[in-house]
Amino acid sequence: MNFLRKNIITPPLIVQKLFRGVMFKNKRNKVILTIDDSGNNPSQTLKIVDLLQKHRLKAIFFLNQDNSLKFSQTIKILNKNSQITANHCLNHSSIFLKKYSYQENQILANGNKFNSNYFRPPYGRFDHNTLKICTKQKLKLMLWSLFTYDFLKDIELSKKIIANYLKRDSIAVFHDNFKTEKIIIDILEYFIDFTQKKGYEFEDFKT
Ligand SMILES: [Zn+2]
Repeated sequence: MNFLRKNIITPPLIVQKLFRGVMFKNKRNKVILTIDDSGNNPSQTLKIVDLLQKHRLKAIFFLNQDNSLKFSQTIKILNKNSQITANHCLNHSSIFLKKYSYQENQILANGNKFNSNYFRPPYGRFDHNTLKICTKQKLKLMLWSLFTYDFLKDIELSKKIIANYLKRDSIAVFHDNFKTEKIIIDILEYFIDFTQKKGYEFEDFKT
């Protein structure tokens, strides 16, 4: 694993300290499972939700809505199963260094449809305008401390990353998009099993 990847898997402490308002890990010392890019592939989302139900787990699903029909089907599946839904921008284009108005539209046009105020910008890239919008809209910007690279479709690599980087307060990222179709269930099974064997708890989102 090269230097760049290591810094993406877990953003360096200096970055975490620089952006205190951004969530990189869970202060409640429980593992948070997050799933990005949902909203385009409801049948895959359903498989993920079934797996979570089997283990009685909750995850935060960050959604885009390129296709409004598929988006609403996905939201329905997640709400029915009491999963957490959150904003990942209207579509998946980067908002980093884009004009304030562009960013606001990407965020707001996708808003008000979720049962949480978590927000994750596409690719995890944000700037001072993004932070301003989050403050104004009372959105909680959530990044991660365990980026699993599941979309590379190399299940052994993702397993290695999980085994090396998982901590009891990790915010872990997986992807519910077409790239991960063949491996998402297997890698999630591994992740859940590994976390439980370590004796770590999953966040239940109860107050
Ligand atoms: Zn994404």
